[in-house]
Amino acid sequence: MKERPSFPARMPASMSAKIAKPSTALNLPQGLGMDSSAVRLRMVEKLIAQGLSDLLVQQAMGAVERHRFVDSGLANQAYEDTSLPIGLGQTISKPSVVARMIELLRKGVDGRLGRVLEIGTGCGYQAAVLSQLATEVYSIERLRGLHDKARENLRPLRLATLHLLFGDGTLGFAAGAPYAAIIAAAGGEAIPQAWIDQLAVGGRLIAPVAGRANGQSLVVLDKTAQGVRQTVLEAVHFVPLKSGVA
Ligand code: SAH
Repeated sequence: MKERPSFPARMPASMSAKIAKPSTALNLPQGLGMDSSAVRLRMVEKLIAQGLSDLLVQQAMGAVERHRFVDSGLANQAYEDTSLPIGLGQTISKPSVVARMIELLRKGVDGRLGRVLEIGTGCGYQAAVLSQLATEVYSIERLRGLHDKARENLRPLRLATLHLLFGDGTLGFAAGAPYAAIIAAAGGEAIPQAWIDQLAVGGRLIAPVAGRANGQSLVVLDKTAQGVRQTVLEAVHFVPLKSGVA
């Protein structure tokens, strides 16, 4: 019996390579697909050079198209290691900070993270990266305009395990608790008690927290059966954690 062709028919790799357009890295966002994946690969190579060693985080950073989360006028800067404005005075976090925080969350975890809570959805970029690495992600945003924007940015990705919530993230989201991990993209004076309460025993929380001096530091909090242990890491610059919604 004659073998049926597979559908959709595939071109031999050699042929498709000839047809593929040359890389036009600087012409984003027109140069989607192959072109943006090459630029992302370079971004991941730089993250590795800066010390990102977690293979799954490398893959997730390589998979999520950051240029889809910023205004088209900024798309050509999307793979630079810089924060960018996303409207309403807020910013998308630097790729190196997103990678660093998620790598810290995953330390000592084999395979996927369990349920994760993110405070500060913003444009939805970090939520998309997280959802590559966790069984379920709940992400809260207090600004309606950004919550809607994130929903729009994320719709084409059809991430069934990512839940976007509109509300005040300082209260956490008790209905999804306990969380294997909690990650905040905005920094307050202290870590809200609700987050600690909603963290599973054995879970880890990472958040920027304002120090005694002016700046913020990254704080890792581990919840164990014996209590919580906090570790203060490097200085960071996040937008402020605010209460209420707007
Ligand atoms: N992870 C985001 C970063 C956005 S910046 C991204 O990838 O784009 C941080 C976000 O935290 C801002 O959108 C800000 O509105 C939000 N935020 C600040 N305080 C908050 C709170 N109490 N609850 C929920 N979101 C908050």
